[in-house]
Amino acid sequence: MHPHNFGAGPSILPRQVFEEASKALIDFNGSGLSILEIGHRTKTFQSVMDETRALVKELMQLDANHEVLFLHGGASTQFFQVPMNLLPPAATAAYTDTGIWAAKAIKEAGLFGKVNTACSSKSTGYNHLPKELELKNDPVYLHLTTNNTIYGTQWQDLSVFYNTGLPLVADMSSDILSRKMDYNKYDLIYAGAQKNIGAAGVNLVVLKKGILGKTGRELPSMLDYRNHIEAGSMLNTPPVFSIFVCLLTLRWLKAQGGVEAMEKINGQKASLFYETLDALPVFKGTVAKEDRSKMNAVFVLENPKAETEFLELCEKEGMFGVKGHRTTGGFRVSMYNALPMESVQAITAVMRYFAQTKL
Ligand SMILES: *Cc1c(COP(=O)(O)O)cnc(C)c1O
Repeated sequence: MHPHNFGAGPSILPRQVFEEASKALIDFNGSGLSILEIGHRTKTFQSVMDETRALVKELMQLDANHEVLFLHGGASTQFFQVPMNLLPPAATAAYTDTGIWAAKAIKEAGLFGKVNTACSSKSTGYNHLPKELELKNDPVYLHLTTNNTIYGTQWQDLSVFYNTGLPLVADMSSDILSRKMDYNKYDLIYAGAQKNIGAAGVNLVVLKKGILGKTGRELPSMLDYRNHIEAGSMLNTPPVFSIFVCLLTLRWLKAQGGVEAMEKINGQKASLFYETLDALPVFKGTVAKEDRSKMNAVFVLENPKAETEFLELCEKEGMFGVKGHRTTGGFRVSMYNALPMESVQAITAVMRYFAQTKL
């Protein structure tokens, strides 16, 4: 039996991507060479980079003002690279405090300028999204986390941000390309690849060129976005294999019908999951219903003593990655793009069985 993978990240990718990626490790495109031994400045790799960047533009429907970069260091590097490039020392940036990742981004921004916490749900354990923004001191940008991977909340209505008229910066690590969204409304978007678009080791950064060069700060070459734009995202050796895995995933995504098709199936998966959760009183969702994430469902048992028993049952039934994050406890079922509907059907069946027979 093939396991059902609900892991939060690194996470499931389409089976076909693993198969094609493993072939390319041995023989890339019939060249007799592995993708791992081809110089990044060769025509062969250049075409990988070109196609990957073009697919990002196409799938996100980006306008000509937006640049696409693949950088190292994970989303966590963007927590400091963003303010380093965008926030002048005496200026203020506004941040939404909606989870652990958001809080880490706030901490790093404070190293480069002033931070205005525009809203926070920290005092209630990040169990909802605070929709009243308090914007002070003329912020140069407003930062948000579109999906809070650990707590399982996701901004369903982004107009609260669009209505501010401020330049927007978003961490979309765990829901990028999972739903239709006007990606052009953002000055900068970043996402670690390992949740919805590929393998760990690379970051997707989409940004408007016009926002750069305004801080008066001298930057190390590798941390200056302008250098990466100029070098076509190949300032140094890029993470070639991780980028190739992104390419395969993006090709798969396009063949499925693109973002629109993803949004539809992700909606169906989330509906089935949450309907089951709400129908079984032994389980309890931990966040406000209207803010529930379609990517990461976080829930607990009314009787926490039965937690181990449920996890053991999941394991026995071939369900992988159901245990919640160490800070929240309980369970987390991640339903990224590549997770098939059958996996959601399987786990909801296990939940119903558990509710009927074990408690
Ligand atoms: C996983 C995650 C991160 C951290 O990503 P790394 O690539 O491990 O640095 C940041 N933000 C969000 C929303 C995440 O889900």
